[in-house]
Amino acid sequence: MAATAELEARPPSAFRTLWEPTAELRQRATELGAEEVVHRTMLLQALVLLRQGQTGDGGQLAHRVRVWAEQNEDRRLLARAHRELSVFYRAVGDFSDALTHAVQSVSFLTEDVPPSLRARHLMTLSVSLDDTGTHVEGKRRAREALTYAAEAGDFEVMSSILNNMAYTAVEVGDEPEARMLVEQMRELQARVGFRFTANELDTMAQVELMGGRYDAVEELLSPVLAELVAATEGDAVAECQLTLSQARRLAGRYEAAQEALDATRAVCAERGLAGIGARARQEQAALFADTGRFAEAYEEHRAFHAAATALQSVQRDARARALQAVFEANEARRASEHFKEMAHRDALTGLYNRRYVNERMPALLLESAGRRRPVSLAIMDLDHFKRVNDTLSHATGDTVLQHVAELLEEAVSGAAFAARMGGEEFLLVFPGVDAEEAATRCERLRLRIRAHGWEPITGTLPVTTSIGITTAPEGRSTFSALLSSADRNLYAAKRSGRDRIVAG
Ligand code: GH3
Ligand code: MG
Ligand code: MG
Repeated sequence: MAATAELEARPPSAFRTLWEPTAELRQRATELGAEEVVHRTMLLQALVLLRQGQTGDGGQLAHRVRVWAEQNEDRRLLARAHRELSVFYRAVGDFSDALTHAVQSVSFLTEDVPPSLRARHLMTLSVSLDDTGTHVEGKRRAREALTYAAEAGDFEVMSSILNNMAYTAVEVGDEPEARMLVEQMRELQARVGFRFTANELDTMAQVELMGGRYDAVEELLSPVLAELVAATEGDAVAECQLTLSQARRLAGRYEAAQEALDATRAVCAERGLAGIGARARQEQAALFADTGRFAEAYEEHRAFHAAATALQSVQRDARARALQAVFEANEARRASEHFKEMAHRDALTGLYNRRYVNERMPALLLESAGRRRPVSLAIMDLDHFKRVNDTLSHATGDTVLQHVAELLEEAVSGAAFAARMGGEEFLLVFPGVDAEEAATRCERLRLRIRAHGWEPITGTLPVTTSIGITTAPEGRSTFSALLSSADRNLYAAKRSGRDRIVAG
């Protein structure tokens, strides 16, 4: 548990360090049957996959975790799963679904989540709002996120929120706002002393580009080209080179621009970055046009257009595949749950069966003992049931059993449950119910069965039951000990005349 929490708390930039320990932990948790940890580690794996670009696999995992978290009413995990699903839908270009999940990821946060987590969720929401063109709302969430990140002293997230805000300001052409945000990023950096990521440097450079300060762009991005920034940020490095090429072209330094552009295209080819690759072609067309090579500019522009169109269809296919994978996971889960449920039910009455009881009781008793809560258990057997079969028919006997099962279902509520152990013998389990209350409930049930309208089914033959009850006051007992104690009481009830309960 502590290990899972530590992995969840790692900074976003450290996602590459997560896979190995997470896989190990998931394996161990699976062996121990610790479902919560299993699903928390699954979500961490989804996070890594989504950030590595393995969109379909990541989305599928996140979806499975969400389903589990919903069924188990695990709000914390649900909030996190919705956040990853938002990342997934954004990656497949579905901004509207991304927004829906981002909203959920914030609304499922509980009061007690740490401020840095709240900051990250609000940031995801803010990005989604910007993607869907709701910039005012996006800015409001980003500001909120910033407050929480500051409260947590989470500088990495603070810087990345400011970066997102500045990038949006560049996109909507608001230079003063963008400059102010970059200023804040610099202040923060000066105060704390972290290194800007290539992504952040690129945003800052784009702000300078907006203002026509091409030397400043050069100064900002040269460390990236000198590979001073972590080489792992493939996309961001290519973005930086593209921005640099643009600045050089606009400054009239065409040869240097071509150099940066060649470097961009080399990185794109090496890492298969189709999106930036297409934009590099667009920049190449502009560079040709600015140097009077119009025929080449035209050809390059056509190539850009073709690449952009192809990219769209590739993205569409990837999206369809990813969504299909998510959908199939959902179906498979439903099927397996259906079979599991069937294996736990009695065919004639629909009540739980002996197998279910055997699987469920050990854990139930462990939990009750842990909390020192009582558990009561009752065995009920129909009186002179052979007579029903013999004087009427076996089919009539079956109908009686079905009616008794219905009365049992009505009688159990809350954590209590009923099961058919075989023949005309039923088990009732009352977690958290003491001896006195169990006796009251069983007596009520006995009277209810006896008073049921049996006449249309059995004519003049009455249907009555005998019930043996036992209680483990602090939950400390084994299932077999409880069973034999209840069975002794049932035998006593039969011997002393039937149609009665015996407890104690
Ligand atoms: P007692 O009061 O001592 O319990 O008398 P009883 O007649 O109920 O005796 P016992 O419990 O020994 O008999 C159970 C009978 O229940 C035997 C069997 O014919 C009948 N039975 C068991 N399973 C089914 C079933 O699925 N359907 C029907 N119709 N009868 C069943
Ligand atoms: Mg019987
Ligand atoms: Mg019996």
